Amino acid sequence: MGWYEASQRSLPWRETGDPYRIWVSEVMLQQTRVDTVIPYYHRFIRRFPNVSALAAAKREEVLKAWEGLGYYGRARNLHRAARVVDQRLDGVVPRDRKAFQRLPGVGEYISAAVMSIAFNQPFAVVDGNVKRVLSRIYKIKKPVNTTPGHKSVQEKADALLDRTRSSRFNQAMMEVGALVCTPAEPDCGACPVSSLCWAFRDGSVSRYPRKQKKKATPTRTFAVGVVRADKQVLIVQRASRGLLGGLWEFPGGEIGTKEAPEEACIRGVREQTGLAVETDAYVTRVRHAYSHFKVVIDVYLCRLVSGEIRLNGHADHRWAALHELEAHPFHKAAHKFIPLLEEALASRDSASP
Ligand code: SF4
Repeated sequence: MGWYEASQRSLPWRETGDPYRIWVSEVMLQQTRVDTVIPYYHRFIRRFPNVSALAAAKREEVLKAWEGLGYYGRARNLHRAARVVDQRLDGVVPRDRKAFQRLPGVGEYISAAVMSIAFNQPFAVVDGNVKRVLSRIYKIKKPVNTTPGHKSVQEKADALLDRTRSSRFNQAMMEVGALVCTPAEPDCGACPVSSLCWAFRDGSVSRYPRKQKKKATPTRTFAVGVVRADKQVLIVQRASRGLLGGLWEFPGGEIGTKEAPEEACIRGVREQTGLAVETDAYVTRVRHAYSHFKVVIDVYLCRLVSGEIRLNGHADHRWAALHELEAHPFHKAAHKFIPLLEEALASRDSASP
């Protein structure tokens, strides 16, 4: 903790004792790097400075503020939780861990982090950094990405916790992992706990943390259509639950075996929107990785042939000019080709008779 006092990074959420702001930061920091989170955190807090402001916002505004940060279920849950706190708990973040854990999206990690950092309650936090540090200090043999491995780390962290200064203790543990006990080249010479570290003593640092190999992530291929009519393009909103729920996208479909991408595009647009279209031009191919699979997406400009919108699976649709897309939250894969659309549409128009 002495090392932490002297070496900690200055981070915006460390300048506040407000449990709401600490909660927002911890939700953002799950599965996302600190450098990425900082600008999002500033924007989010400016836009939603307290629980009531977040509760009063429309879901689409919250998703827009989260756009690009990924794992959108975190934003939807945070928003739902803020509404519960605002409407049923007088806008006060619960100080009781069990009550806090009943809120949407609040699990073991978030509850331990917020209760300890904001209220100095004696709960030990175990995140990826803490797993790395403790698995090296204690040479924990169980893979840390399995339930038994997580449990072993949690037991060590619980036993070590300074129960009267848990806020500082937890942050110090995470900071050692972030700054010194890094994944590839830990700086053991500068480490404040090297004299306690078994892996350092016997030169086996590189063998920890142990991890169980994950299955290779499958790749799925899609074809999507940018359907245009009267200088507008058709966008559809995903249903609120599930992967990327509430975000906007262009209609299309997964490419079947023995199906050409263009056929999949035409079929997918028809199935999802009820519209008959023809592909007009190929725009590009984009790739993106989600947590459990990768996607390859072929993008086509499409001409509307006939039909009326009958959504099948999506919650809403809109015809929007390109400059209006900015007002809608899209997932990251779509952002990879949206900047190309203006040029693609212009060159298509100039090629038309
Ligand atoms: Fe990590 Fe090295 Fe410190 Fe051990 S001595 S905790 S391996 S940085």
